[in-house]
Amino acid sequence: MSTGTINWQKKAEQLHFEGRAYIDGAYRKALSGKEFTTINPATGKVLASIEWCGEEDVELAVRAARRAFDGGAWSELAPRSRMEILKRFASLIQDNIEELALLESLDVGKPIANALSVDISNTAYCISWFAELIDKVPGEVVPVDPALLGMVTREPVGVVAAIVPWNFPLLMASWKFAPALAAGNAVILKPSEKSPLTAIRVAALAEAAGIPPGIFQVLPGAGDVGQTLASHLDVDCVAFTGSTAVGKQIANYAAQSNLKRVWLELGGKSPNIILADCKDLKAAAKAAAGAICYNAGQMCTAGSRVLVAREIREAFLSELKVAMADYRPGDPLSPETNLGAVVDQRQFDKVLSYIAQGKKEGAKLLQGGAAVQTVHPDGLFIEPAIFDCPQPNLTICREEIFGPVLSVITFDGVDEAVRIANDSQYGLGAAVWTQDVSTAHKVARQLRAGTVWVNCYEEGGDMNLPFGGYKQSGNGRDKSLHALEKYTELKSTLIKL
Ligand code: NAP
Ligand code: MG
Repeated sequence: MSTGTINWQKKAEQLHFEGRAYIDGAYRKALSGKEFTTINPATGKVLASIEWCGEEDVELAVRAARRAFDGGAWSELAPRSRMEILKRFASLIQDNIEELALLESLDVGKPIANALSVDISNTAYCISWFAELIDKVPGEVVPVDPALLGMVTREPVGVVAAIVPWNFPLLMASWKFAPALAAGNAVILKPSEKSPLTAIRVAALAEAAGIPPGIFQVLPGAGDVGQTLASHLDVDCVAFTGSTAVGKQIANYAAQSNLKRVWLELGGKSPNIILADCKDLKAAAKAAAGAICYNAGQMCTAGSRVLVAREIREAFLSELKVAMADYRPGDPLSPETNLGAVVDQRQFDKVLSYIAQGKKEGAKLLQGGAAVQTVHPDGLFIEPAIFDCPQPNLTICREEIFGPVLSVITFDGVDEAVRIANDSQYGLGAAVWTQDVSTAHKVARQLRAGTVWVNCYEEGGDMNLPFGGYKQSGNGRDKSLHALEKYTELKSTLIKL
């Protein structure tokens, strides 16, 4: 799609913002009567008032979800019919891609070009991928005593709460609701209060596609909506993407309530290892810059630690400076912009405080790292920063910053690189650059991460690849056939013949 011919500014002025919750087949106001506002971080302007759901709204939604699930209007639909409805849902998202991309761009400050080509396109792709799966995953007849017939079937878990973050608001949500709906569950989606607009909007598209009332609901609000859902005795499963700290709380709520199934996609501090035999330092530098600048570094898989071999360090750093300088803060509604705003004041302050902390702990700021006011005086923009770190234990090398801040660590030898890479509480992504096929395989095997890239970074938006983390980056996998495991129970049935 050509984004250049559209006047996004004008389109934005004509946009309608829906701020109500979507419960039991209709848009509704929160029972508390309270509202909050959502802000465009690129301008500081208030975009819309949003209903502030609380416990009573959660209660209504859970009851509607239970009723809808138990009624069977979705879970007992012929697989082909469920498939048709979800395919229609995906098509409607595709049909409304410009509006949805605009909502996403305005709400979180991300470049419109990225919102179109990644966030919303991939949301439609995710839903249609899981739709197509519905009638293609058979159960099993297993070898048992000849006097018996043994079958294994997959059944939906029931009422699924999906609690999602703001960095890829609709896309992260779809990684949960698409497989959950495909498997026949009722889903209650809780978007981040920083980015509720697209989740609320797609509820109408789900309805238009034919998803029955109570099967797909959206509850905007603060973290307590997530807490109430995760603590609820009648919610069967909670699928969460967000920070490790909140992920631990979610596991606690589940433990203290009904031991609902808990699936966690959490933070990361992903290492990107450039070995001494890397032949194309320019390509490695370009990928390293993209890995920390895309989405203003607000990516769980951000390649936030570059580990570079001492032999090639200077040559790599000079390429890296050039590649990072290609990411310039700009108006998110301008189609050429490749670096937008960070999501809100809190995140902005947090990123800047990490930059200050890096300097204080002795890391050398090679480039960038300043707040930028030239795009808009009230916009939350930060120049991408490169830190040369004297050792791997600095705060900026260990903690997830979630901003365009790259820590470069120098190593001697492959073993040291792997040791530093794995010395982290996280294990979401990792990359290695080498010409040697054996080294590539060996290092890939040694890296404790859910995804390992070799001679690339962030490649593979394909739905066939499971996505998730080792260690405190979480459990379970989004995307791929394996995502169904989160949203289904396995049932063994034995029939005496
Ligand atoms: P967050 O603060 O943990 O929030 C995530 C979601 O949980 C939001 O909807 C939030 O609502 C809600 N929440 C907050 N407190 C809660 C509580 N006590 N109980 C239940 N829900 C609660 O994370 P974030 O700042 O939005 O997102 C950034 C984090 O997400 C980073 O750590 C990043 O690495 C991670 N992430 C991971 C993946 C992955 O796949 N592994 C993908 C994307 C992002 P409010 O926003 O309304 O408070
Ligand atoms: Mg916003």
